[in-house]
Amino acid sequence: MNTSIPLLDTFQSRVRLEGVLTTWTALHIGAGGSGDALGTDSPVVRTAAGDPYIPGSSLKGVLRSAAEALFRGGAGQASRRTLWSCDPIAGKNRACLTHERSEKLRTEEEERAKLAGRDPDSRKVAEAIWEESCTVCRLFGSLALASRVRFADLPLRGESPLLELRNGVGIDRDKELAARGVLYDFEAVPPETPFDLRVTMDNPTEAEVGLLIYLFQELNAGNLALGGKGSRGLGRVRVEWNTIEEVRLAKENPFAKLLSRRDLLAASAAAPATPQEDPLAGKIPTTGDAEAWRILAEILLALPKIDKGLLAEKAGDKALKKNVLNEKLGLGLDEKKWTKSWDVVLERFAATGLIVRKGEDYALPLPDPTEAAVESDDTAPSGALQRVIDVYVGAMAKLWEGAS
Ligand SMILES: [Zn+2]
Repeated sequence: MNTSIPLLDTFQSRVRLEGVLTTWTALHIGAGGSGDALGTDSPVVRTAAGDPYIPGSSLKGVLRSAAEALFRGGAGQASRRTLWSCDPIAGKNRACLTHERSEKLRTEEEERAKLAGRDPDSRKVAEAIWEESCTVCRLFGSLALASRVRFADLPLRGESPLLELRNGVGIDRDKELAARGVLYDFEAVPPETPFDLRVTMDNPTEAEVGLLIYLFQELNAGNLALGGKGSRGLGRVRVEWNTIEEVRLAKENPFAKLLSRRDLLAASAAAPATPQEDPLAGKIPTTGDAEAWRILAEILLALPKIDKGLLAEKAGDKALKKNVLNEKLGLGLDEKKWTKSWDVVLERFAATGLIVRKGEDYALPLPDPTEAAVESDDTAPSGALQRVIDVYVGAMAKLWEGAS
């Protein structure tokens, strides 16, 4: 068995990406399934409870098409074995692996097994299918291969928005329709509606995670549109990652914990610190328990953004709840003001320079001018998250260079 081929029968690792996808322009994913139903009263997809949602399959479809276009037009095609994409939409003979070919690989293994007097090895067939599959089918799946990336349906984050009812007649092309008396209205999710985004990748290479993050970046940049009527500017979205987490199977010692959990954020946040240099030196308020302040500082630095609620949630996991803060941190508040504890904590950190005030909010200070461009963008991931993303995207970039 070739374990370097990451088929799904052997679980080796899983990468979970979680974030928020927010509509930038109105979004129409039609309940008819086509995503672009033309006709009066074209509603958006809704859950049983009546809330609009984004089907994971819609998102997957958009990203898959973008990946196909990328590898067909790019470096991949010249050296087919590294990065390339087939074109199954153009016809079944343009697929990297036709049904006939996968059947042939299966029959060949059956014949070999018969000659050798053994049972056919389905893993061997799967490996042969893998070898002949293109980069895109390997990740997103094909008739012969299971998809290794899963997009959960994206539920609404928070209150149900007031849906827009749009008049389909808005551009020149439609005037003709209007002239002929064909009017159509469609429903759309308004801009600035957030949805919870969860993506899971099984046994991905770092480059594949990088590819996926790159594709989301294209979505984020407005180069791809979700749902219908994209040519009219609908379906542009923003994506903000909150966590990227990898779970690996501990292979070396089966008696060790079955799953070793590697928190990439924590690992990469710790890595750049050299032993002789304490990044928190001088940034810890001097009242109360220094260790508790330090824990809070580390939590703050790892957050996707400086946010009281997020801080309180993470601090709660470390037994630093609102009711102990005053005493433990020496905040000097009377009991009536305990509800303000988190505000005071952020104020104190702002006073030490760990964070900086930005109007009503706080942000991380800009460490040096080269990072300023990234950090000044409100939707840019935190430094730690960005380093994780850089590792993955860097792996993809390296593979791309090798292929060209
Ligand atoms: Zn393919």
